[in-house]
Amino acid sequence: MNINWDNLTFSLTHTKSMYIAHWDNGVNWTEGELIPFGNISMSPAAGVLNYGQGVFEGMKAFRTINEEVVLFRPEKNIERATLSAERLCIPIIPSGLFMDGLIKVVGDNRDYIPPTDKGSLYIRPIIWGTGEVLGVAPAPSYTFLIYVSPVGPYFKSGVRCLNLRVTKKYHRAAPRGVGNFKTIGNYAASLYPQKLAKSAGFDEVIYLNAESDEFIEEVGSANIFIVKDNKIATPPLAGSILPGVTRDSVIHIAKEKLEMNVEERPIPLGEMMEADEVFCTGTAVSVTPIGQITSDDSVGIINNNTIGEITQTLNTELNNVQKGISEDSFGWLVPV
Ligand SMILES: *Cc1c(COP(=O)(O)O)cnc(C)c1O
Repeated sequence: MNINWDNLTFSLTHTKSMYIAHWDNGVNWTEGELIPFGNISMSPAAGVLNYGQGVFEGMKAFRTINEEVVLFRPEKNIERATLSAERLCIPIIPSGLFMDGLIKVVGDNRDYIPPTDKGSLYIRPIIWGTGEVLGVAPAPSYTFLIYVSPVGPYFKSGVRCLNLRVTKKYHRAAPRGVGNFKTIGNYAASLYPQKLAKSAGFDEVIYLNAESDEFIEEVGSANIFIVKDNKIATPPLAGSILPGVTRDSVIHIAKEKLEMNVEERPIPLGEMMEADEVFCTGTAVSVTPIGQITSDDSVGIINNNTIGEITQTLNTELNNVQKGISEDSFGWLVPV
């Protein structure tokens, strides 16, 4: 093992092992096991390969300043995986099995967790229909797998603010669709709008609501917040937005620790363009400032394209809890 902790980006590094468990028709989930990280084989007729019957999660383990290894709110990811699985007719994984997998795979790959200030261990649970199907139907068998990878910052820029474009050409998710679940197909569909934005020089896309194109929804794979006159607002979880664990954590920190006003309500596009601060949240991106937003021909410069005070505070508060720098007053950390 030879990892240069200073050069970590958000990309895959192979580690020692991954966790795998199976579900076969009529037999419930078997106890999982650790196997070396590597390729797996499945039939070309696997449900996941033909019809996208798969869901995933994304979470992190941190090395705290006291050299402890902790998971951040794993029960929230397990809860969300359960809802995602149910929506795609994937047999639900008992939370005990899920947690067993997380603890085992992180424990076994402890050496791959970066030093506190260099990054974290990204954890990727996936649940796939791996049994054979020909007609559109739920697969007869399933695989639960967790692999991990040390990661650094999601955006190479470090502290630079993001430059985003509002897309009016594509929607991420429709009302009553699957936008509120981490189903794999949602992400293949986001690649093309993302590619167009990137080739025009933007970091990512901001999506509007499919029903009326009036309200902001989220950024590619992160939730969005605005700040105006010391009041924080974020779009409500009304079905087409992914219920982010980071989103929920930021709301708790803002309301309960900082005693700020947080509204979950529809946010018109024009209101975002006039905001004092705009930022996005996610496990991968943490709390990242947005400094410039282009919508049609209008360009909104947010807070002089610098990180705002409230964005900075929320970022620091969240990171301090995750790294054991401040007290875990919400009980969010689970030791490995
Ligand atoms: C995963 C994801 C998020 C962020 O969720 P976290 O639990 O905070 O990582 C936001 N939006 C989309 C579309 C996502 O897939």
